[in-house]
Amino acid sequence: MRVVVLGSGSGGNATLVEGADGVRVLVDAGFSGRDLETRLRDVGVEPESLAAIFITHEHGDHTRGMGVLARRFGLALYLTPVTRDACSTLLLGQEDVREYHSSRPLRIGSLEVQPFLTVHDAADPVAVTVSDVVTGDKLGIATDLGRPTAAVRAALAGCHILVLEANHDEAMLWNGPYPWSVKQRIASSHGHLSNRASGELARELHHPGLAAVVLAHLSEHCNDAALARDVVAEALDQLHYTGLLTVALQDRPLDPMPVDAMRLRASPTQLSLF
Ligand SMILES: [Zn+2]
Ligand SMILES: [Zn+2]
Repeated sequence: MRVVVLGSGSGGNATLVEGADGVRVLVDAGFSGRDLETRLRDVGVEPESLAAIFITHEHGDHTRGMGVLARRFGLALYLTPVTRDACSTLLLGQEDVREYHSSRPLRIGSLEVQPFLTVHDAADPVAVTVSDVVTGDKLGIATDLGRPTAAVRAALAGCHILVLEANHDEAMLWNGPYPWSVKQRIASSHGHLSNRASGELARELHHPGLAAVVLAHLSEHCNDAALARDVVAEALDQLHYTGLLTVALQDRPLDPMPVDAMRLRASPTQLSLF
């Protein structure tokens, strides 16, 4: 499996996942259609080579370009029925919409996509794990988490790569420029995960096969990349984590992550047993 975080933050989210059989799935399409095309080509991927777009929830930073991209390149577009209704203005009825249900896995080529419900202020929000049935690689993408429930933690167990929300620094949020009502929404159990909560979750999900933690969906006004990284690094250092810890960018893609090679570096003995 190869994973490329094309961009993340309140201005847009999208992650490309490639299976061992070459199948390509875009998880979320929160940039404009043109921007998504540019980001995909920047990492050497033609948009028409995608098999599908999978959408986690209806917020614009996850859906903005989905209709344009799906129509322009004839891509399958996976939505829950509730999310489909909630973002109907982006759809013209010409898209190849495939409805999925928030607790049932679906298979796209060698990739098994397992959605699971999250607590967030959207109509039917999910996070996902994507597993490659050929290699056993497992990716978790969990942003827009008000709080990590027991179900979320169970679903994310055993991931080799975690794209995890680190939305805000709590002090920066409360001292920051947002109106009080917005601050309360962000910090609530239906809002977004703080750096501290992200560090706690990363520590809980740590296991010897964990090869990469990508901090994502950072707030532009209430966070700082170095600060988020430091908070989560401190939580993981206690467990002698040796994998990659990085921060997703809003304005450009991260370097592609080849999961099998990264697993080998993180835990050579574990992979040799596989
Ligand atoms: Zn959201
Ligand atoms: Zn979001």
